[in-house]
Amino acid sequence: MTAPLVKGWCPGALRPMPSGDGLLVRVRPPIGRLTQTQAAGIACLAGQYGNGQIDLSARANIQIRGVTDQTYAPLVTGLAALGLIDATPEAEARRNIVVTPFWQSGDGTAELAERLGSALRDNRALDLPGKFGFAVDTGVTPMLRDVSADIRIERDATGALLCRADGTASGARVTPDTAVDTALSLARWFISSGDRKRMAAHLADGATLPAAFNVIEAAPMPDMPPPAPGQSAVGFMIGFAFGQMQARALSALADIAPLRATPWRMLLLEGRISAPDIEGIITRADDPLLRVIACPGLPGCTQALQPTRPLARALAPHVSVDRMLHVSGCTKGCAHPGPTSLTLVAQARSFALVRDGNAASSPASSPLTVEQLLADPGTLMENPNALPV
Ligand code: SF4
Repeated sequence: MTAPLVKGWCPGALRPMPSGDGLLVRVRPPIGRLTQTQAAGIACLAGQYGNGQIDLSARANIQIRGVTDQTYAPLVTGLAALGLIDATPEAEARRNIVVTPFWQSGDGTAELAERLGSALRDNRALDLPGKFGFAVDTGVTPMLRDVSADIRIERDATGALLCRADGTASGARVTPDTAVDTALSLARWFISSGDRKRMAAHLADGATLPAAFNVIEAAPMPDMPPPAPGQSAVGFMIGFAFGQMQARALSALADIAPLRATPWRMLLLEGRISAPDIEGIITRADDPLLRVIACPGLPGCTQALQPTRPLARALAPHVSVDRMLHVSGCTKGCAHPGPTSLTLVAQARSFALVRDGNAASSPASSPLTVEQLLADPGTLMENPNALPV
């Protein structure tokens, strides 16, 4: 079997990525927030110039699918009119920031993220690797520890700000005025220390941080369930099957409130205190579709060996509340790099079964066809080794 291609860069609006259903155009909303005008505009543009499907990414970005060579230029013009286009592809790539969606007015998070975004946009000399990113996690509770980032601005247990390298528990003491400059100095150290990997891997390989970045401990991670649809102090969070919505759903959401994108492929409706009634959205934390993960598969990805989402959708009701099922179109496992209870990895005519591993792990048993998988989904989820092959 051919190994999946590792591209090593993320798509942007100015650097779209070809995929199985056309160009993928990724929009990075400033501070992770869309005004109602911007959300309505994206919905309209996705319907007019894409195929109407919109993804939410694990870096809290919005992806318009199915764009063609002919519709790409007018799409970018439309996005620029909404204030969602950077000056250059390089500026867009540098502005790789995830912001906690649970920031509150007055806690300084939005202002900090805004300043960091501007500084990254303007700092042309900062030549960072393609996936290098920043997290601004300065709400009441740290929420982004499991979200990929290389440089993190957080708080300690007393609420004081710090800037730390991913892969370490402590960082440099900062203030709202010094946090951005400190984050950029850490990025420059990373570049000058001569490595093109991600920060945590660089440190694990023995790189030694400047002493200033070992001064203040980040607050411990609270013992709380993972983010899920429902009400919070800042609004109502909603989910979507496989993190994908139709343009008409986004258009309906835009009528209700400004939206905050989250790295959990959900949207937070700012200020909303109850679940909206819109087709295709998930409003309950116990919805079985939240217990399945699937990448686009065929036909959305050129590297996929089989369709993934119809199988995941059919199996979802059989996944118990304490488990997760990941259906991956190939061994790359884009939708979920980590382990799950059961991972089904597409092969040419069947799916490999991996228990408590990820898409690249060794299969636990012989591969099964879709028909075999659907014949006894209860046994599949509880004891796949017992299935006949
Ligand atoms: S995991 Fe899915 S999305 Fe990623 S390359 Fe493979 S088929 Fe494509």
